[in-house]
Amino acid sequence: MMNYQQPDVSGHFGVYGGSFVSETLTHAINELKAAYVRYQHDPEFIAEFKSELAHFVGRPSPIYHAARMSREMGGAQIFLKREDLNHTGAHKINNTIGQAMLAKRMGKTRIIAETGAGQHGVATATICARYGLECVVYMGSEDVKRQSPNVYRMKLLGATVIPVESGSKTLKDALNEAMRDWVANVDNTFYIIGTVAGPHPYPMMVRDFQSVIGEECLTQMPEMFKSLQMAEQQPDAVLACVGGGSNAMGIFYPYIGHSNTRLIGVEAAGEGMDSGKHSCSLQLGSPGVLHGNRTYILQDDNGQITETHSISAGLDYPGVGPEHAFLKDIGRAEYVGITDKEALAAFHYLCRTEGIIPALESSHAVAYAMQLAKTMRADQSILVNLSGRGDKDIGTVADLSNGEFFCRPSCQGQSVKGGSISEQPIKVYS
Ligand SMILES: *Cc1c(COP(=O)(O)O)cnc(C)c1O
Repeated sequence: MMNYQQPDVSGHFGVYGGSFVSETLTHAINELKAAYVRYQHDPEFIAEFKSELAHFVGRPSPIYHAARMSREMGGAQIFLKREDLNHTGAHKINNTIGQAMLAKRMGKTRIIAETGAGQHGVATATICARYGLECVVYMGSEDVKRQSPNVYRMKLLGATVIPVESGSKTLKDALNEAMRDWVANVDNTFYIIGTVAGPHPYPMMVRDFQSVIGEECLTQMPEMFKSLQMAEQQPDAVLACVGGGSNAMGIFYPYIGHSNTRLIGVEAAGEGMDSGKHSCSLQLGSPGVLHGNRTYILQDDNGQITETHSISAGLDYPGVGPEHAFLKDIGRAEYVGITDKEALAAFHYLCRTEGIIPALESSHAVAYAMQLAKTMRADQSILVNLSGRGDKDIGTVADLSNGEFFCRPSCQGQSVKGGSISEQPIKVYS
């Protein structure tokens, strides 16, 4: 087992990470670092965190053997880590609880957050309601349109949602606006970042809070294999979609020392890797500084951030957490791309085949699992982090699918062969 200790004391993962912030934020960042160092290993803090995860979130989340899907793919066994079953419907809540607990201990009364798909905004608004904290959420106006049920949910929970009209009106612009707010209100305000990005200590802290996902898997998988009378102890591959990279780091981190387990991050290839319309920062970007850390970013020759695209708001981000940049460079994790079309097909397939409506983000990981499984043996296994549920996406899916459904071949009275799924939408109901 390799000895993996990252980041270093200054928050660097190799040449990535660090803390690139304006002088006005230095004090706030130092205060946060000190608080995290103080409470990170504090037994009372840890006990409260665990209790919140158990009683408010509903952890541990189950692991589910997608037996029908595995059979139809005709290869490896596919397992789903059901983060979609968490309270608020995604992995985001794990992290917001940890940070809100820190905010309370630091005496902060006002919480700000940025959000893309709206999941982090909902998770933040939820914990603020629970702890009686003021909550302001910045959201790109494009995302406000794409995710209107989540906007309404945040308002129900008592949060103020501020649409951001700058730039591409998506996640990166919301992050910029939240940073600006923080600079202006450092005294009473705590900034809850929703992914493993931002200046040190955020990438480390968010990873630590989310690593409960992988820790649970380490104990759940041996039991699962035993019940299926499989010889394995841990999966051959662990897959997760990568936007900023927090659900991926959460499940990868405890597996880093398990060198027999491949770690595969799935980026949003949008309309195709060569279309210029994608969000593949790790595969097609280059090192640069964005939102307070050095990492892979999508930029033009002048270092300007380029526009990104994905069917899923949560993956539509031109950067990525610095630890992923490091894991890619040292070769411990691999990164692949799944297009909008492939993700949409996997979304429909999982709905119909397993009775689970996945988030469009998570559908990217499911789509790659379906491809990968076919290249593996039935006694091998793939564990997919199903980062969230797809209820928030059904409007988007309905619009894109044009009243048509991607149907399992068996719906058409055909036999199911080799896991083929229809590439073309089939009108099922007219
Ligand atoms: C936010 C979100 C993501 C992307 O964020 P990461 O930090 O990359 O995990 C993925 N899936 C769901 C369901 C989300 O809400």
